[in-house]
Amino acid sequence: MTGSLIIAGLGPGADHLVTPEVTEALAQATDIVGYIPYVARVAERPGLTLHPSDNRVEIDRSRHALEMAADGRQVVVVSSGDPGVFAMAAAVFEAVEAGPDHWRDLDIRVAPGITAMLAAAARAGAPLGHDFCAINLSDNLKPWALIERRLRLAAEADFAMAFYNPRSKSRPEGFARTLDVLNDACGDARPVIFARAVSTPEEAIRVVPLPDARPEMADMRTMVIVGSSTTRIITRDGAPFVYTPRSVA
Ligand code: SAH
Repeated sequence: MTGSLIIAGLGPGADHLVTPEVTEALAQATDIVGYIPYVARVAERPGLTLHPSDNRVEIDRSRHALEMAADGRQVVVVSSGDPGVFAMAAAVFEAVEAGPDHWRDLDIRVAPGITAMLAAAARAGAPLGHDFCAINLSDNLKPWALIERRLRLAAEADFAMAFYNPRSKSRPEGFARTLDVLNDACGDARPVIFARAVSTPEEAIRVVPLPDARPEMADMRTMVIVGSSTTRIITRDGAPFVYTPRSVA
């Protein structure tokens, strides 16, 4: 049988936010490959082998998945959210590019998922209604100086900003520096959304003005969205709506 490799996004956490395409891919799979907590989200069944692996072994994991697909298995590599956003899809293509030529002829597809940024934005209202950027604040794969430069340029361009991995284990002070840079570069009280564990039982959403944002408001399960200078808050009884109007004068 011809093998295949699907790199699938499981969405932010809730089962009802997994797409039908991904559900179908999981149902057809013979092997599931991925980081331990993501593989744990896939139900066991006869004929399915789970291959959980630790964090930071993305290239080894990708090669293993490609080898199994080349052997004729139906392999699904799982990521949280969307697999193309700071996740396994790029790792698999890095492995394909560096690997044996026959890997290029494999049936490899990417099945998108709802990324944490969009799930978090939806909870708050529409903070990404105008131009925005997404930045991974982890410095595992790039130098901190580059992150800081991008933060300053994004603030100068007046983008709303969505931050993944706000607290990197290797540099716990990184997010404190991020807030310092933003307070310096923005100099106003635009809203900051801390959206933790969106769509899970531990979900918690908090909105604070930028000068009141504190490093400990974020952890590895938090998505941080910083508004642009035009982002608005609609107050009401209960949680406010945060939105960025579509137009700029
Ligand atoms: N591929 C994933 C992102 C992987 S990076 C996606 O598209 O969502 C991991 C980071 O995503 C976490 O540190 C956190 O910032 C964010 N994240 C993932 N799931 C989340 C959730 N349910 N709620 C809030 N943030 C989440």
